[in-house]
Amino acid sequence: CGIIGYAGDGRDREVLDVLLTGLSGLEYRGYDSAGIALSDEAISVYKSEGELENLESLLDGQEIPSVPVGIGHTRWSTHGPPSDRNAHPHADCEKQVAVVHNGIIENYEPLREELAADGHTFYSETDTEVVPHLIEHYLDEGLDPESAFRTAVSRLEGSYALAAVFEGSETIHATRQDSPLVLGLSEGGTYLASDVPAFIEYTDRVIYLEDGQFAALTDDEIVVTDAEGTVLEPPVERVEWDA
Ligand code: GLU
Repeated sequence: CGIIGYAGDGRDREVLDVLLTGLSGLEYRGYDSAGIALSDEAISVYKSEGELENLESLLDGQEIPSVPVGIGHTRWSTHGPPSDRNAHPHADCEKQVAVVHNGIIENYEPLREELAADGHTFYSETDTEVVPHLIEHYLDEGLDPESAFRTAVSRLEGSYALAAVFEGSETIHATRQDSPLVLGLSEGGTYLASDVPAFIEYTDRVIYLEDGQFAALTDDEIVVTDAEGTVLEPPVERVEWDA
């Protein structure tokens, strides 16, 4: 139901703090589980059914890596009951990619059958989990992360705001269709979220991503492209928000 992502330069603030602040800023949307993925040389996923407190106590007392990029999610279940396993982020078999998703992948059943026949093992009952496996499929075919993400998304039907982090990469890839996604720019990094309150305490400079557009976020820039990969120059707006 809510998405947050942050690509930082590692100097100004910890990715973990931005993600947890973002998730609490999205609580008003309602949710039944929450989770985050932190990405560096390897991807670490922490997720839990229930309130944000549950996620926080899972993180408490653990050695949390300091990383350049991360994504977070509050879930409002549509496919698969609330549970730790069904909570997002979802990863592929080898944890090369982790994905958060708002919305519904309408054609997840045929995709799941196709991927299962190809040897992919599914851990959740969600519609979302086909996305990381589909991306993995294209990575295994030799595509780079951005092309694998785009190609996987081109196979999806339904509504989605999606964000993905890749093992060994400092870029977050995102897109949307019939589900909101707003991008934020600040000196200390770039952000993505379902809604502005998730990152308003860090920046009020935003880009509203449109249906069918893609965004690649790194610590110092956001590159927005259309479905064909043509670079766009969307307006950067200043939002007024009483936080
Ligand atoms: N359909 C997905 C699920 O059930 C995403 C739900 C959401 O938007 O939070 O996990």
